[in-house]
Amino acid sequence: MGIAVSPQIHPHVAEFIDQPRKMLINGRWVNAASGKTFPTYNPATGEVLAQVAEGDREDINQAVKAARKAFDNGPWRRMTASERGRRIWKLGDLLEQHTEEFAYLESLDNGKPLNIAKVADVPLAVDLFRYMAGWATKIEGNTIPISAPGFLAYTLREPVGVVGQIIPWNFPLLMAAWKLGPALATGCTVVLKPAEQTPLSALRLGELILEAGFPEGVVNIVPGYGETAGAALADHPDVDKVAFTGSTEVGKLIVHAAAGNLKKVSLELGGKSPNVIFKDADLETAIPGSASAIFFNHGQCCCAGSRLYVEKSVYDQVVEGVAEHARKIKVGSGLDPDTQMGPLVSEEQMNRVCGYLESGFSEGAKAVAGGHKSGGRGYFVEPTVLVDTKENMKVVREEIFGPVVTAMPFTDPEEIVPRANDSEYGLAAAVWTRDIGKAHRMAEQLRAGTVWINCYNIFDAALPFGGYKQSGWGREMGHDVLNLYTQTKSVCARIA
Ligand code: NAP
Ligand code: MG
Repeated sequence: MGIAVSPQIHPHVAEFIDQPRKMLINGRWVNAASGKTFPTYNPATGEVLAQVAEGDREDINQAVKAARKAFDNGPWRRMTASERGRRIWKLGDLLEQHTEEFAYLESLDNGKPLNIAKVADVPLAVDLFRYMAGWATKIEGNTIPISAPGFLAYTLREPVGVVGQIIPWNFPLLMAAWKLGPALATGCTVVLKPAEQTPLSALRLGELILEAGFPEGVVNIVPGYGETAGAALADHPDVDKVAFTGSTEVGKLIVHAAAGNLKKVSLELGGKSPNVIFKDADLETAIPGSASAIFFNHGQCCCAGSRLYVEKSVYDQVVEGVAEHARKIKVGSGLDPDTQMGPLVSEEQMNRVCGYLESGFSEGAKAVAGGHKSGGRGYFVEPTVLVDTKENMKVVREEIFGPVVTAMPFTDPEEIVPRANDSEYGLAAAVWTRDIGKAHRMAEQLRAGTVWINCYNIFDAALPFGGYKQSGWGREMGHDVLNLYTQTKSVCARIA
């Protein structure tokens, strides 16, 4: 079923995609209970890349059973924190050793440039595992001086239990790492459902998870569709927590589904992040920085800087500068070493983005760069800069999740905070200025989980990431994420 082995394709990847991929349940690779498979596509060509076992409710049931057994009775619970940490560290090492192979898989399945996956997606995932490996031995409770005499009171931080994790297609490997790393560090067990568009790197990671020595049932990976496998995980009565990254719309469905057993929920959802350039900014960094804020990963970033606000006196210069960057971006197949931007992930996503462009044009927006689908086959869209946009337009209000930025001028620096905050989202924001006081005042006033000053898209395993408002619940990464995967037990003993 795989694509023809071309000299361009990494040999291990060619072998990996040449046969239908199975799902990982209880430490074994198995077919779907239904026997069904589904195709994953190469978005640069639209051709089928590989067939993957199609998980559904019955497979989720089996996976949850395995995770429950591993959590309640398996060697995982008896393992010391140090042993847990060492396995996570080893997983990071194994992943690093296979950097090239994972970069190929990401590029083929998602469309992103191979060279970017090699220096961003894979090393960030490696680093995340290493950072979380260190936390395993540092999860501590407190001793509490309660008021009554003659008692010893303390808290334990305990793993939350069986965790369902549902991830999107924009950073398939990295999102798997963000989810798995803290769950494993805290001693939870997991059922992971990758996105239907990009299941391959998570499945390959599953092989490394077994190699790293995690006991059976600790990590189960069930590919499949959201409405079936994903929904079965979100409403499963024996899942203690669900962690989701994806659209705000589906995030709300997850909250409803979780209500049945009141499982814990954490959500990392959409964004429409404002990127504000003041006239006193260093434009030589602000212009390329703002181009990369939107065009990195083809705009398929939840924190993409998709609303660009520029102080009036430098507006024309900035817009022309960003547009010039957009025009120069080399769009092509992710495997081509010259490519700077690959295709969007799917035909559906391409049509969604083109639909937004149509809507913008019909409401009076103009493109000063791009504005169309690009190329013949494959799901390419031109890097696009829209001007003449107004705050009430769909292209300004809704998450496009494609390489499209709306640029708008502002005159009064006082007006910019309410305009920047005028969104149902609050994931990220950026400010470009040389005035350090203004920068930090803005950072305080912007209602967003991350504020970048004179930079954009800086991520680190140690830096919490997550949303205000409808951009989500909870923070991933940093020590904050440990709260999402542990709960506190108070122990109180009479000792006198
Ligand atoms: P999505 O539907 O929210 O998908 C995210 C994950 O949720 C996927 O694994 C998906 O499975 C699963 N899912 C879908 N419906 C579900 C349900 N009813 N119950 C449980 N799980 C379910 O995102 P999308 O459709 O791929 O993209 C749509 C839009 O979402 C994008 O245009 C973008 O605006 C936004 N998005 C945001 C992020 C982010 O990082 N914040 C990431 C991706 C997309 P399937 O694989 O079957 O879809
Ligand atoms: Mg694909």
